[in-house]
Amino acid sequence: MKILVLNAGSSSLKFQLFDMTDESVMAKGIVERIGLDNPFLNYTGREKVKFERKDPVDHKKALQWVLEVLVSADHGVIKSLDEIMAVGHRVVHGGEKFTGSVLLTDEVIAALEENKQLAPLHNPPNLMGIYATKEVLPHVPMVGVFDTAFHSTMPEEAYLYALPVELYEKFHLRRYGFHGTSHRYVVQEAAHRIGKPLDSLKIVSAHLGNGASVAAVKYGKSVDTSMGFTPLEGLVMGTRCGDIDPAIPIWMMRELKMSYQDVDTLLNKKSGVYGLVRGRSYDMRDIEEWAEAGDQEAIRALRIYAYRIKKYVGAYAAAMGGLDVLIFTAGVGENSPIVREMVCEGLEFLGVKIDKEKNNSRGDAIISSDDSRVVVMSIRTNEELMIARDTYEIVRR
Ligand code: ADP
Repeated sequence: MKILVLNAGSSSLKFQLFDMTDESVMAKGIVERIGLDNPFLNYTGREKVKFERKDPVDHKKALQWVLEVLVSADHGVIKSLDEIMAVGHRVVHGGEKFTGSVLLTDEVIAALEENKQLAPLHNPPNLMGIYATKEVLPHVPMVGVFDTAFHSTMPEEAYLYALPVELYEKFHLRRYGFHGTSHRYVVQEAAHRIGKPLDSLKIVSAHLGNGASVAAVKYGKSVDTSMGFTPLEGLVMGTRCGDIDPAIPIWMMRELKMSYQDVDTLLNKKSGVYGLVRGRSYDMRDIEEWAEAGDQEAIRALRIYAYRIKKYVGAYAAAMGGLDVLIFTAGVGENSPIVREMVCEGLEFLGVKIDKEKNNSRGDAIISSDDSRVVVMSIRTNEELMIARDTYEIVRR
């Protein structure tokens, strides 16, 4: 009952091996520099080890490398690859077709190929991971778990842009939302921890990592989320701008003579917190440290970052007609008391009251005061476990 979870990126392959009898992680790690010289494998099994090699590896070789280590006498955690019951793949974009996790049959893989253009940066490497697995472990069933799937319950008024509707009909141009696996995990955790059924709660979940999004989850279903057609919409992120006037890219192309590739790079890689502090860092740890030392630009970046989140919390409370739980998760959400405090400040009218002492924590905690009407929580996300659970559920049917 071992499930291998894979997250294939363009130059990396992340993995975790779960024992589903108790949902424990037997081994995990990442192969980096796929397609480049000197790739390496950071592996944590019984202990931490870094493996290096000179020759470039593709996704297939990277997976073979991981599997060799998983069964090796020195560092392995399983005796044979036959112990792997199934492989769960993270797939970023499921389009409109995939509204839940699915067994990756040839038919499904073909449909994913058709979806490629919806997420040109993410889906092609995800597919490479799928093809690699198919070759290396041909008899092991595979399951695809989509970042977009959880948001497939959004109503039309939330997912349609006010563009000519033919663009939606012909090209599926609409809002999809991402981070669905993380939002799904933390809302389940939240309900469990406060001992209330998920289908009785109005929850806003803020996933604040390098990429960041907020989701409105009403009675267990996502009814709105801040990322849209791509992961660029919504919050201020590490290097992404989030919401801007859509005329700005046009202005950049017309007035600054920028190519669409330059605009794409600027909005995705040079904006966000990174852009606001003149490219000094996109890591919130640096921004916080500088802000504490009185760096005005860092303070302003934090204020802009938190203000955008606060606006979404208010908007989503309105969308759901109330708010019972507010969740912070991912790198920044789990670790940054200051961001959480800045977001919650001024939301007392919604019933949000943070306890400064409780908020001064990392990881899993209830950080609202006892008399707060809204329960505010910091929850460690675990997308890999969610993928392992879905995979297990589907293959054992
Ligand atoms: P990803 O979106 O890449 O999965 P993570 O969820 O791991 O990202 O979040 C990464 C970000 O979390 C880092 O860029 C950093 O800004 C932030 N982060 C991590 N640890 C801390 C910390 N202790 N305090 C503030 N921010 C942190």
